[in-house]
Amino acid sequence: MTYRGPVAAGLLLNRKSGQCGVCGENRALTKTHVPPQAAGNTGPVERADVMNGADSGVVAGKWYIGGMWVRGLCAECNSFAGAQYDTAYGDFATRLWQWLQVGTRVALPSTQPVSLAPGRVSRAILSGMLGISPHVRVLHPSLADQMYKGGPVALPGGLSLRVAIYPGKAAMLAGPMLTGLLDGSSGAINTLATVTFRPLSWALVTTDTDDMLAARGWIDATDWLRYEDDREAHDLRWLAPHGLPVVHTILHSPSNDGMQLYSKDIAPLMRGRIP
Ligand SMILES: [Zn+2]
Repeated sequence: MTYRGPVAAGLLLNRKSGQCGVCGENRALTKTHVPPQAAGNTGPVERADVMNGADSGVVAGKWYIGGMWVRGLCAECNSFAGAQYDTAYGDFATRLWQWLQVGTRVALPSTQPVSLAPGRVSRAILSGMLGISPHVRVLHPSLADQMYKGGPVALPGGLSLRVAIYPGKAAMLAGPMLTGLLDGSSGAINTLATVTFRPLSWALVTTDTDDMLAARGWIDATDWLRYEDDREAHDLRWLAPHGLPVVHTILHSPSNDGMQLYSKDIAPLMRGRIP
């Protein structure tokens, strides 16, 4: 079998054309904001490629304003996702953030429920992840095909989508990455893509390692992807009956007590900061 993978993801910021993470066609690639701009991922937000420093480990490169984005999707797939999912994601992120300003951060509010369209919200993130990690399409073409078609998505066996509340001002987008935990558990977390941008942190994770996230309280949002587009006002408490956990560190960030393994030729790694 001939390997027909995407070009080095280190070029994701600069390349003008390449293989689209959703349709797989070689086309001009457009700026794909992850998460959608409607969630506050706009001009003042700065991004920087993470690079390997000479002797100081990973360091952020030059900071640029303009939000967190990659060139990962063609115009058609980017526009489709934008039209279908962006507003729903932005609305949910806004409502959740407003609640986080006033409420307890453990139990979800009962008087003013946080509502969302679970299908659209989760597909907004998955679409962005396919832009961040073109290799997801190579590994799981049926997943990309479902996203191309639109509507409900059944993740292939072996993958799950996890989500937690993340309230910090730092942001990160990352492609395939493995973190070996150095906490004595000899465990590891293996993700194909992660998106951290307040108020949420998302991970597309292999199920053999998602117990690690489950143990930290991350919600399994895999089934959110199965909701139709028109299911628009679910109470978050139905989807997360035990509440949403709050994480204060970014998954795979060097501050974790773990060892990060990734290839800078395959995995984009981008930091952001929200003013
Ligand atoms: Zn496309």
